[in-house]
Amino acid sequence: MQADPTASHFVDGSYHEDKDGAAIEVLYPATGKPIARVYEATDAVIEAALAAAARAQSDWAALRPVERGRILTRAAQIIRDRAEELARLETLDTGKPISETRVADWPSGADALEYFGGLAATITGETIPLGGDWAYTMRVPHGVAIGIGAWNYPAQIACWKAAPALACGNTMVFKPSEVTPLGALKLAEILTEAGAPPGVFNVVQGAGRVGAQLIGDGRVRKVSLTGSVPTGRRVYQAAAEGIRHVTMELGGKSPLIVFADADLDAAVGAAMLGNFYSAGQVCSNGTRVFVEASVKEDFLGRLAKRTASIHLGDPLDEATTMGPLISAAQHDKVMGYIAKGQAEGARLVAGGKAGTGWFVQPTIFADVTDTMTVAQEEIFGPVMCVLDFDDEAEVIARANATQFGLAAGVFTKDLARAHRVAGLLQAGTTWINTYNLTPVEMPFGGTKASGVGRENGRAALEHWTEVKTVYVGQGGVDAPW
Ligand code: NAP
Repeated sequence: MQADPTASHFVDGSYHEDKDGAAIEVLYPATGKPIARVYEATDAVIEAALAAAARAQSDWAALRPVERGRILTRAAQIIRDRAEELARLETLDTGKPISETRVADWPSGADALEYFGGLAATITGETIPLGGDWAYTMRVPHGVAIGIGAWNYPAQIACWKAAPALACGNTMVFKPSEVTPLGALKLAEILTEAGAPPGVFNVVQGAGRVGAQLIGDGRVRKVSLTGSVPTGRRVYQAAAEGIRHVTMELGGKSPLIVFADADLDAAVGAAMLGNFYSAGQVCSNGTRVFVEASVKEDFLGRLAKRTASIHLGDPLDEATTMGPLISAAQHDKVMGYIAKGQAEGARLVAGGKAGTGWFVQPTIFADVTDTMTVAQEEIFGPVMCVLDFDDEAEVIARANATQFGLAAGVFTKDLARAHRVAGLLQAGTTWINTYNLTPVEMPFGGTKASGVGRENGRAALEHWTEVKTVYVGQGGVDAPW
């Protein structure tokens, strides 16, 4: 099985190869076998991409916004026309079941291109009356932007960054995770086919070193990262050197709170979606499931029964509902956390074992306490921790007692309580009676260590533009000299 791209990079409107860079073997997570090879960007490739983005930016920004928007909307349609081919590629790149990649990854990317394509022509400033004189503002693009992606949603992340960035008149150099380099190249190809001029969206491959080099370049005005908190700290610091704007989409350890009056089957379904989709490799997962003590055993019983129906297997088989983890390293890390959970006294309710290769069984721990390692650190695998609680004030305090603040969920039939709790949880996004839905119309991003800025929704436009003010003098100049 091979998925070799036309070339490693996409620069200035076309595929670009330079085999002087270190080879990166792309492994299919279901087999651990190579399916493609790309080469890390050399200094020459990095320079070509940055120069192309800088050259293209002013003409791109000067286009009528409706024309920029039309190109993005056309790209969304091309993605939909090529849906099956793209879903298959995403499955090969990530190991996610085809049943997921058909509905979640590229489709969400297409939604972002369509949504921001539509919004492009609505980005306006304001007029400010000043009693005779007046001022007006414009929302102008930052200029050249760097996008850096994680490996868990490579196609979606590339689209979520490119769509608003380009809609606002920025150009971009995007560096995917070295583990999943294939999807972003397709996005560049598709945007070009849709009419994006050369240099507007470029892709270069490589590890963190390449990302660091991109961020440090003097032509760059904005950096948008999706990744872990430790990487976020490094990237934020590097961006600060050049006083660059940032968006940081980082990790989480989100609480999902189930009150005793909740629809328990719905809550069980949400907890499973929020822990086992994409084999648990989702930033906003509700990995700390707080269940009111009086319904805990009922909840656990239903949860264990439904978890037993998860089908691990070949991701290209339509019947498969959970794939492997992304890499041997991630597999070993997750198995290490499972061992730690058991050693620290958590009760294993389901799973706990490694499958063949990089598969890990969907795992549920009960009787987890706040101080256990599995309750504190982001595991990024199919490991759910169930904790119990007795009252509302207690659970809110415990839910907030973490460095993270990406997401949260509340299940209850008491509407007043749902909104009260949602208001008190320290999270960028809180779901009431559902979990992990991220439609592109809705802002998404974290608070506290989970991030800075927002993707999606109209809110994203504020993070891809800055305000330019013009003061208009209408009378003479009143100078004291
Ligand atoms: P990661 O190790 O932090 O890497 C993220 C990206 O940053 C990769 O492309 C990485 O390159 C690059 N990078 C690493 N060091 C860098 C540096 N010094 N300068 C510039 N770039 C650098 O994260 P990951 O393991 O790929 O992804 C999992 C993490 O992403 C989890 O913590 C998850 O919660 C988070 N995430 C957050 C969101 C969100 O929206 N909040 C969404 C998805 C994932 P290489 O890896 O190629 O070396």
